[in-house]
Amino acid sequence: MTDPSPPLEPILSIDGLSKTFGPVTAVDRVSLDIRRNEFFALLGPSGCGKTTLLRMLAGFEAPSGGRILLDGKDISGLPPERRPLNLMFQSYALFPHMTVAKNLAYGLEMDRLPKPEIARRVEEIMTVTDLAGFADRKPDQLSGGQKQRVALARALVKRPKVLLLDEPLGALDKKLRERMQLELKRLQHDVGITFIIVTHDQEEALVMADRMAILKDGKLLQCDTPEAVYEAPTDRFVANFIGVMNFIDGRVTSGRFEASGLSLAVSEEVDGPATLAVRPENIAVTGTGDGIGGTIVDVAYHGLDRVLHVRIEASPTPLQVRVPAQAAIPHAVGDSIQLVMRPDRVRLFRN
Ligand code: ATP
Repeated sequence: MTDPSPPLEPILSIDGLSKTFGPVTAVDRVSLDIRRNEFFALLGPSGCGKTTLLRMLAGFEAPSGGRILLDGKDISGLPPERRPLNLMFQSYALFPHMTVAKNLAYGLEMDRLPKPEIARRVEEIMTVTDLAGFADRKPDQLSGGQKQRVALARALVKRPKVLLLDEPLGALDKKLRERMQLELKRLQHDVGITFIIVTHDQEEALVMADRMAILKDGKLLQCDTPEAVYEAPTDRFVANFIGVMNFIDGRVTSGRFEASGLSLAVSEEVDGPATLAVRPENIAVTGTGDGIGGTIVDVAYHGLDRVLHVRIEASPTPLQVRVPAQAAIPHAVGDSIQLVMRPDRVRLFRN
């Protein structure tokens, strides 16, 4: 029987990669493997080193330390044009005086490919990227989404082994951005090229990526599937950065997490100070009187759900609790309620 799961062999190995600019360490000994045909996202707050890491992969920035291996070969010393990687810039950098077809052919002409081969490849990539009707238009005769597709097509037409995308959807409005997220994922699947995308938008990374790496201050904090990062963040910063998380400070004593008015059995053995982290969807409102007592201070509607902001004794900030909008018990500001947490869905971070 053949293995239905995608191959796990790395196409790109980043090995202890660092970059310093004078006193600033932009990328700090990052090691990670990117798998063949993977849609990989580099995610983190502004200034965490995402772009610098991408620029080192593309060859526009020389590493201060570490290595980059592509298919097992060290490419750290190669100039950008000798690397089988292509970088798509956020600004698209299209040639304004050239038609779409000319923009797409340009890179192949520079590589001196035969004319019929160029025509064939341009045709093919225009079909894949839904640009077939736009061959003779100039960039300023296109919408934002169409320009974005031309930039993508231009990067893909050279058939790189890996496509690097720096905030590729950054210039688009929210609606178009959401549509393009799905399109980009479909396209990546169709062309079978490894994509590495830089984004500061956690939703975007969750929607698109097969796996993601979260960086902070140049350091890699966690690298895993979106589900694993969301469900099992290994770090307090990651827990807060991805999705919404409630934090409650307290301490672990004899297998229980204790904070004022709150006591929960946990699987943690070692006593001492700890922070309990729980997602809004893993807290429920209970009708019985033995939950954690709280008062609703705000109710926010989110379509199918409602988010209750509940003040409890153990936390200076109200907890966010997600309940179905159709919940049988009406919840209003000022109501006293009882909350329960699923012990298997809480996480503990040591202070
Ligand atoms: P953003 O999301 O804001 O683009 P980023 O995560 O891509 O941020 P980088 O652009 O990689 O971050 O920058 C990482 C750090 O390195 C920042 O502190 C930045 O100021 C610094 N830095 C980047 N390029 C240079 C440079 N050429 N000279 C000096 N410092 C730089």
